[in-house]
Formats: sequence, structure tokens, C-alpha cells
Amino acid sequence: MTEHLMTTTRVWEVHEQVFQKLKALGQFPYPEIYEKLFYSIINESADEELTKILGKNFSLCEKVENTINYLEIVQMLLSSFTESHSDIARIASIQQGHLERSTPKNSECIVMVENLTLLGEELSIKLKKADEKIKMVNHKLEEAIKEATVDPLTQALNRKALNEDLNSIIAAGDDKPLNLILLMLDIDNFKGVNDRYGHITGDKVLQYLVKLIKTVVRTTDKVYRFGGEEFLIVLNRCQIDTALVISEKVRLAIAQNKLISNGETIQLTVSIGVAAHQAGDTLDVMVECADKALYKAKGYGKNKVVLSDRMS
Ligand code: GH3
Ligand code: MG
Ligand code: MG
Repeated sequence: MTEHLMTTTRVWEVHEQVFQKLKALGQFPYPEIYEKLFYSIINESADEELTKILGKNFSLCEKVENTINYLEIVQMLLSSFTESHSDIARIASIQQGHLERSTPKNSECIVMVENLTLLGEELSIKLKKADEKIKMVNHKLEEAIKEATVDPLTQALNRKALNEDLNSIIAAGDDKPLNLILLMLDIDNFKGVNDRYGHITGDKVLQYLVKLIKTVVRTTDKVYRFGGEEFLIVLNRCQIDTALVISEKVRLAIAQNKLISNGETIQLTVSIGVAAHQAGDTLDVMVECADKALYKAKGYGKNKVVLSDRMS
């Protein structure tokens, strides 16, 4: 066997190895991939003869031209590919089979995705409905809470709210004195308003009064209806000086404003008793102190602000 033929046979052997490897990898013999594998096999083979002819870091043009006719090799490789066509076709058909088998899977997937999308849409509609229901229930709940804590006539907070709010503030104080002030406000001579303008107008006066108070106090201050024409204003985190300023502002605002109802001008005054929280005070103790101060304000001629005894 001539050197030429020997080399050709070896090249074919390498080619077969390359091709087997490619098949094992399920890889098509794209030139780049084939070439890499071809030379790695030659290098791994440590075949001196082959390495001598083809060499490491084989450069196709240089080496092939030195050994056999380049075109001949190319032709052989090409025919090798052609001969291996059946194998390629087999791999291709396997691939095709995979694809075909995967097609129903894909269509199943598409159906699944479509079903999931439908389910998703249904779910989204249900969620939307549930969301609307939750909003409605929430709204009703808010209204119920409001009804439970707000006086329907004046929209001031009610006694229930007062107990809850103040007890939680006082409880958080841990028996320490708090910067918490109560203003007990009572309309002066309100019976006379009812007697003169009627009970309905009297109700309007109560509404007007609460609105007016709310415009004067700070947004954090809360107004509660304590009884008929008595209101409690709670000033939390407030120093006594500020509380007295606010009390005076409320008194003045009421005295200086008037309500015009059914062509009648109604002028009001209020008396205010002020009590500040002291260590250990309960709500009842504070209310009692404010009430005593209010009683004094009435005694001093009404339309007055009086600070609780124990503060002066
Ligand atoms: P003083 O200055 O001493 O407080 O005199 P007053 O007339 O304001 O006090 P009094 O306790 O004698 O009268 C309070 C009146 O408030 C009697 C009651 O009919 C009236 N009143 C209580 N609640 C309401 C209400 O919701 N609507 C109306 N229109 N009047 C009410
Ligand atoms: Mg009263
Ligand atoms: Mg009164």
C-alpha cells in the first residue's frame, strides 16, 4: 500500500470516528463542528504517521496540498457525506419523528395553554366579582363602623368612639401623665333656641356647631357628642397653653358667627371646661374634671373657658 493510500485509509477511519461521535451526540456534521472533531481525534490518536502527514494544528490547505491532492480529499469527504446520507437521513427522520411526535404534544400544549388562558380569564372574572363583593362588603363595614361610632345627626363621634379612643390612648400611657386635654363644651341656653325656633332648627344648630368647631380645631383633634347639646373635644399630644388657645378660638368662633335658618339669625355662645390628663387618670376622672370646670364657666356667666381646678 502506498503512503498515499495508507493516509487515505487513515483519513477515512478518522472520518468514520468523527461521524460515529457526531451520531452519538445527535449532532449534524456541520463543517465547523466536523472539522473540530476531526482534528481533535487526530490529535488524540497520537498516530505519528497521521500526525506527521496532517500534523497538529492542521491547516487544511497547507497540509493537504503537501500530501495528497486537496480536491481529491475534498471529493472524498464529500462523497463520504453523500454515502452517509442514509445515516443523515435516518438521523433527520429520527429528528422529524421527534418533531412529529412533539407536534401532537405541542398541540396538546396549545390546547392546555388555551384552556389555561380560559381558566385564567374565568378566574380573573371571578376575582373581579369577588373584588367587587369585597369592596361592597368593605364599604358596608365602613358604614357600619361609622354608624357605630358617629352621631348621625351631627356627624361628631359618639360616646362609644370616645370610650374606645380615650381608653386606648390612656392605656398606652402606662399610668404616666399624657399630653391629653379634654374640652367639655355645652351650648348656652340651648333650651331657649329650641323653644324659640323649634326642635328642627335646634337640630340644625347642633349640626352647624359641630361643623364650625371642626374648622377651628386641628385636624388631629377629635369632636365627640357627649350628650344632647354637650360636646367633648379631645386634644391629644397637646400642651395646656395650646389647649387654652384652641378653647378660646372655639368659643370666639361660635360667639362671632351666626346661623341663618328660615330667615332667622341664630347667635350662639358656648361654655367650655378644660381638663388635662394627670398620671392615673381614667376617662371618667377627666370627664368629671372637665365637667366641673364647665359648671364653673356657667357660673361665671357662660360664654367662658375655664380650666379645671387642679390645673390652676
Ligand atoms: P345651659 O346654658 O345651662 O346649658 O342651658 P341649656 O338650656 O343649654 O341647658 P338645658 O339642659 O336646660 O337644656 C338643654 C336642651 O338641649 C334641652 C333639650 O331639649 C335640648 N336638646 C338635647 N338634645 C337635643 C337634640 O338632639 N336636638 C335638639 N333640637 N335639642 C336637643
Ligand atoms: Mg347641657
Ligand atoms: Mg346647655
